[in-house]
Formats: sequence, structure tokens, C-alpha cells
Amino acid sequence: MDNKVNILMTYGRVESALAVQAILDSPKYNIITANSEAEALTYLFQDSFALILLDIQFESATILRERENFKDIPIIFMSDSNQHEQYIYQNYGDGFVDYLLAPFNPYIFKSKVAVFVDLYLKKQLIKEQAQKIEDNELQAHAASISHIELESFKRYQNLADSIPQIVFRVRANGVYEYFNKVWFEYTGLSPEYSLEMKWKDVIYPSDLENLLILFEHSKNTHGQEIECRILNKFGEFRWHLIRIQPEFHLNTNEIKFWLGTAADIEDRKKSEDIQRFLSLAGEILVSSLDSNYILESISKLSVPALADWCSFDIINDEEDLKNVITYHREPLKIGHAKAMHSLYTSHPNSEEDILKVLASGKANFYREAGKKILTDTTLSPQDYEYARELSETTIIIIPLIAHGHTLGSLTFANFGVGKNYTNNDLELGQELGRRVALALENAKLYLFSQRAIEVRNDFLSIASHELNTPITSVKLHLQMVNRTLTNKKDELFPLERFKKSIDTSVKQVDRLIHLVQVLLDVSRIQSGQFNFVFDRVNVSDMVTEVIDRHKELLQSYSCNLTVKNLDNISVIWDKTRMEQVITNLINNAVKYAPGKIEVSVLEDMNNVKISVKDYGVGIPADKIHRIFDRFERGNSPESVSGLGLGLYIVKQIIEGHHGKIEIESKINQGSCFAVIIPKNANQTVSPQQPIICMN
Ligand code: ADP
Repeated sequence: MDNKVNILMTYGRVESALAVQAILDSPKYNIITANSEAEALTYLFQDSFALILLDIQFESATILRERENFKDIPIIFMSDSNQHEQYIYQNYGDGFVDYLLAPFNPYIFKSKVAVFVDLYLKKQLIKEQAQKIEDNELQAHAASISHIELESFKRYQNLADSIPQIVFRVRANGVYEYFNKVWFEYTGLSPEYSLEMKWKDVIYPSDLENLLILFEHSKNTHGQEIECRILNKFGEFRWHLIRIQPEFHLNTNEIKFWLGTAADIEDRKKSEDIQRFLSLAGEILVSSLDSNYILESISKLSVPALADWCSFDIINDEEDLKNVITYHREPLKIGHAKAMHSLYTSHPNSEEDILKVLASGKANFYREAGKKILTDTTLSPQDYEYARELSETTIIIIPLIAHGHTLGSLTFANFGVGKNYTNNDLELGQELGRRVALALENAKLYLFSQRAIEVRNDFLSIASHELNTPITSVKLHLQMVNRTLTNKKDELFPLERFKKSIDTSVKQVDRLIHLVQVLLDVSRIQSGQFNFVFDRVNVSDMVTEVIDRHKELLQSYSCNLTVKNLDNISVIWDKTRMEQVITNLINNAVKYAPGKIEVSVLEDMNNVKISVKDYGVGIPADKIHRIFDRFERGNSPESVSGLGLGLYIVKQIIEGHHGKIEIESKINQGSCFAVIIPKNANQTVSPQQPIICMN
């Protein structure tokens, strides 16, 4: 470091400048020479000088004195004559000037310069010390200030970090200043990135405007808040309640900062949404007992609220699971959704097994549904396209179970990234499934009871007619006999006619007894008192007896009944009840399919099979299951009488014998009723399916 003291010298003649330099030559001094005022000023502006040696011929001294910066620099005037002496002391004399006359006495010159230099150095020292003191004070002050600030900042940070919400501070100009720990944990963003990001980087696009409005409103009204979605580190937007509070400058009352908090309200929002959804669903479910309306309305409510598309698969009367409704957020894509639904429910590679879900009774969700289907190299291009879309789809399958009855399933599907279902959705689906199943079960029961009322009304009118017919007939015959006997006119009335009337009346009474018997049987079945008396029975004899009893009836209907394979078979059955079964089957064949009737009796090791086959009208497929129910009458013509109870009683008798009945029927081709009964029906055997339809 150069510690030399600067001395500026202006000179008029080169030789005097050299003389001065020779006199003052010292390692302590740095003599800078200028031969013009302008040059002198340039040096003065560039550096600090202890002394100026000024040639009296220069007018610079006046200029220097006028300059605030240089007015304190001492000047030694150098002159060849003393004519300037008075002028100098007049104009500059205040201790900061001196005067030297050429030729210069080196000792005097040196000592004068030394005095001024010493003075300068002392002033410098004082200045430095003063600066040091000032610096130290400033430093101490600064240290004390930053310490307080640091303390308070730390306290602020600790407080903000202990809050389970996001806390942020933004300067008035919109530049971020601070985020608490929760922010970094939630967003996964670095502090550097966070301080430079834009709101649009993390706020859901449609919520952005609301946030900006919030800032605007918060200027005037404190404590404003809005709900908006913030992106988390998993790429999901979660609902937050954002509050903004301005911080003002104490003096100017201008906004200095915005202090904000953001509380995660996703779960609360979700549960509110769920409650709202369930309450809307509840309104639909209680508003109707029409299952089609229920399925359609729930589909429309769920799409798009819960799914891009949804499907209901319902178990029908034939115990088959059938897709009854598929609904897509874009109506034109309903067919598309149906095709995808059918692909994953039927493809062997598919993991989305509705039947498995129904068996478990628990809703399940499948991510990347259809991914395994894609591995099938035999897929058609169209199916490949469906499978590809399915592989980007999440599916929830929900069982519809009410009172232990499995009614079907509901499927929700969401397509695309970030639309995966969560456990919350699964729970909601399960709850919705429970409610829909109950409503469907109610609708079913309602339909059932409506049908039961209809059937009962039909039965009452049929029963009254059935009972009335023989009674009327008997009454007419009795009246006729009575009239004849009273008038005595008809002494010639032949006994023949009396006998005919009595015979007809007896037949009608038999018919009445039969009807009453049927009604009694039904009432016994209902009260659980339909009992059996098992005994050894010869099947061939029994069948022959029944057919014999029908001879007259067969004749009157011009029926041709043939019997096959009548071997002697001995069984343990309730003879009366089994006669009732065969009687009913033959009666029905005669009533509904008069013509050719074939009865056959076959046996194997354990069972006997008795079939009654006709070639008549047949039974429609949708009725075949029902004809075994109480009061059910299939497609019977009005002209054919009946209570719709015969096959109902037949079913009970067969069940009581641990047997089964197989029906094969084709419209206009005829029906075959085959009764299969264990030879020893008196022993407890595991129950079997009593009715098997094979049309
Ligand atoms: P009912 O004969 O008194 O109506 P059933 O219980 O014996 O009552 O029969 C129920 C229904 O089954 C009948 O009403 C009829 O529609 C149908 N049915 C029974 N047997 C036959 C058959 N052999 N051919 C066509 N329909 C039949």
C-alpha cells in the first residue's frame, strides 16, 4: 500500500519545478506536478492532497478556494519577487497559506512543507479515528438491530410453522417474501422456486380470478376469504380456504405486505359434496317405486358428479346378470361406454370381475382397468381401442345388496390422468349402492305386492265363479225336482230324469268338494300343516288307477292317452298326495292341450320319473316360472276353468317327497312335465332345486 503523502505542485517554469522536486525529494512525499489550472483540478478531483505548492502566476488559488472540496487544503505560494506578498496575505491569509521566495532555502522550504504535511497527517488520523468510532457505533447499532429483527423473524417463522395451515407473505408489489413449512411440504416446491413462481403455477385455472378479486377486496375490508384449489406435490388440486390480510405502513398507511393463510378444506368439501350428493340421491330414491326411473335418475345424478360413465347390471328373473343401463357424460358416447363395459365384463383376461365383487359384498376399485386385456393379441382393432381407453380408466364396482339379497351391481368409471378414485369414493359408492339396493328392493316388493293384489283379486273373482257354477247347477236341479214333486202334475215324469238330475248334482258337489279340498290344502301349506303319510306304494298300480278315473273326462275331451313302461315299481311315498300330483298333470294336459297325451314311468337305481307329455299350446317362457306360484294362471283361455292353485300344490307335494319337477315346453308344440321322486321319499335327503325349466 502506498503511504506517501500527495503534494500537488503547479509551476510556470520547468527549472523551478525541478528545483522544488530536488528539495522535497523524500520517500514520504509524492509530488504531482501540473502545469495548468485544468490539470491541477483534475488531480485534485482524483486524489487527496496534503498541500498545494502554487506558482503565484496561476490564478488557481482563487478557484480552489471557491471549491468546497478543496478549500481546506493548505497552499504555499512560490514567487520570484516579494511584490506579491501583500496580495497574498490580503486574499488568502488565514493560516492555511504560506509564502516562499525564490531562490528557495531548502531547509526553510522543507520545514514549511513538513509542518503542513504533519498537520495533514494529524487531521487524517483524527478523521480516521472519528470514522472508526462512527463505524464501530454503526456496526454495534446495526448488529443490535439485525439481532432484534432476526429474533422476531425466527419467532414469526416458528409461529407460522406451528400452524397447520399454509402461511405466506407477499409484498405490496406482488413479490413473494415468505412461505411456512406447510407450504413446502404440501407443494413439494423449493424455497427458490416458491419465491419466484406465479399464482397461476399452483392455483386451479378457474379459481385464479377469484383469488385476484380477493386481493383487490382485501385492500378495503379485512379478513376476506375464498375457496380455491391449490396444486399439491402429487399433482392433485385440493380445496383450500384462503384468507388475505393486508399489513400497512405505520406512517403512510399504505399496504406493505399481504399476509395469507390457506387451510386445506378438501375433506370437509368432499364430505359436504358427499352429503349433498347423498341427499339428492335420497330424494330420487324416495320419490319413486319404479326401478327403471330409479336406475336412470341415479345414473344421471352420478355422471358427471362421480364418474365419466356408469353402468347398472341387474339380476333378472332368470338369475342372469344383465346390463340394464349405461350412461355417459357425452350422450353420443353411451354406445362406446356400453362396448367397454361389455369388454371388461366378458374378456377372460379382465380383472374387473363383477361376480367376485357380488360374492364378496364389498365395493372394489380397479386402476388401469383393461390393461391386461391389451395383452390379448387376438383383439379386433375396435376392441383394442376400447381396451386402450380402459387401461387409462379407473373403475369402481359396487354391489347392490339389500336384506341379504344380491340385486346386481353399479359401476363407476373415470377416464384420464389425475382422476383416479380414492378410498373416499369407494366408501361413497358403497353407501350409494346400499341405498340404491334398498330402493330397488322396495320397488321390487311393491311390484310384487301389486301383482299379489292383482292375482288375489283375479283369484277371488275366479274362485267365486268356480264355486258358484256347481252350486247354481245343484240348485237348479233341486228346484226342478222340487217343482215336479209339488205340482204332482208330472206323475208321468220319468224316473230317468230324476236320476240324471241327481247324478249331475252329485258331480257338481264332487267338484265343490274338490275346490274346497284345494283351498284347504293351500291353507294347510300356509300354516305349515301340509303333512305326508308315507307308505309302500306300487307306482304302476297307482298310475293305472288315476288314468282309469280319468276315462270319462278323456273321452269327453276326445283325448288319446297312452302309457309307456309301466313296470312294477315299489316305492315309499304318500299315495294320496302323489295321486293328486298325477291327477293334476293329466287334468291340465286334458284342459289346456286336449289331443294326444303320453304318460311314461321310468326308474333308475334311486328315483322314479313320471312324465305327462302333451302336444298342445305350450307355456310362454316368461310365464313358466310363475305357474307354480299361488293363483298364477299362465296364458289360460277364459273358457278353461281353474283356480291357479293346482301346480302350486304339486310343487309342495314334490318338495315334501324331496323330488323335483322338470318342464320342457314350446309354444304350440306342447309341454312335458316330468316328476322325479326318490324311491324312498321318507328319508331326509339334501334338498334339491324343485323346479327345472328346459324350454
Ligand atoms: P289351473 O289349471 O287351475 O289354472 P294350475 O296351477 O294347475 O292351475 O296351472 C297353472 C297354469 O299353468 C294354468 O293356468 C295354465 O296356464 C298353465 N298350464 C298348466 N299345465 C299346462 C299344460 N299342460 N299346457 C299349457 N298350459 C298349462
